[in-house]
Amino acid sequence: MCSDEAARIAATKGLKRETRATARDRFADTIPAVNSKTQGHMTRIIVRTSRARASHALQWAQLFLLFFGLTAGLTACASTAVAPLPEESRQFTPPPQYALWWKMAEACSGRQRDFNSVKWYRHADFVPTAPSTGDGAVQGEYFYGLNSVVITDNSINNPMVVRHEMLHALIDQKGHPAAEFRDSCGGLVTCFDACERAVGKIPVASVDAEVIDVTKLAVSQSVAPQNISMSMDGGYFALIVQVTNPLDHAVWVRLKPQPTDPKRAATFGYATVMGAQYDNVDGDLVSFGPGETKRVVYDLTVNDIPQQDGQRSVRAFYNATMLDKELLTITN
Ligand SMILES: [Zn+2]
Repeated sequence: MCSDEAARIAATKGLKRETRATARDRFADTIPAVNSKTQGHMTRIIVRTSRARASHALQWAQLFLLFFGLTAGLTACASTAVAPLPEESRQFTPPPQYALWWKMAEACSGRQRDFNSVKWYRHADFVPTAPSTGDGAVQGEYFYGLNSVVITDNSINNPMVVRHEMLHALIDQKGHPAAEFRDSCGGLVTCFDACERAVGKIPVASVDAEVIDVTKLAVSQSVAPQNISMSMDGGYFALIVQVTNPLDHAVWVRLKPQPTDPKRAATFGYATVMGAQYDNVDGDLVSFGPGETKRVVYDLTVNDIPQQDGQRSVRAFYNATMLDKELLTITN
């Protein structure tokens, strides 16, 4: 199996990514039974909000309690090729959101390069050039020397696949260095099969490792770009959520279980005024390596975020740690 950062977590701790509705009518009449810890969490949210907004905060909290995460699909990563471009590759002009995804890959990797120097090709049924090892179908490939990327038709708007190839172009060296594909850009790019084997896994904490409460983790969110352009980026933006173990040794992190299903616990997620979505794990323990940062990116568009009082906002959370609302700045 191969996976991105979040799915790597899943492989470690049995996390399942599930899809569920976010529509208001799914939960409007439902107030779930909650335990005292979660009730406290909900209360804390409501206290910070106006009366009108309290109901929305409650809806967020209800969805937080009720539903499971919806995240980007998992895809196979590319090999890296020096061979000629596959026959029937068709060059295309990168859509506006590619500029944003390029900047994100630049930011996480610390590398810079002229985006316009890369040539982009699409292919209906891409045949991988790497020897088959039982890996999934290759959906993109960066061709060294030609400074060209070939992506399958069905993946040209998959940000995780596109950023994977952009990262190859930025580091411009063969292979999948763990420093970039796992550590600094993990969660922003797919990393399956050959990539996953190359970067390796952060060892799971030992059974007698220290157990710390989830509140000890450093949780942060950021929105890229800070000014979302409808014309330049097509209204695309990304919500980047990071969780870091501040300790210099491996730990087990104790999560708050879901009141509606105490055998599982929520992990990464985000909420809008209309609902929430998140991942969850079996049990209530997640392993973190020394100083490890786990990262999930939600690739969204302005239209994914409902408007309230003329503003659009989103907020991330990790388990019971919910961050403040991030107001989106949108220009035409
Ligand atoms: Zn690759």
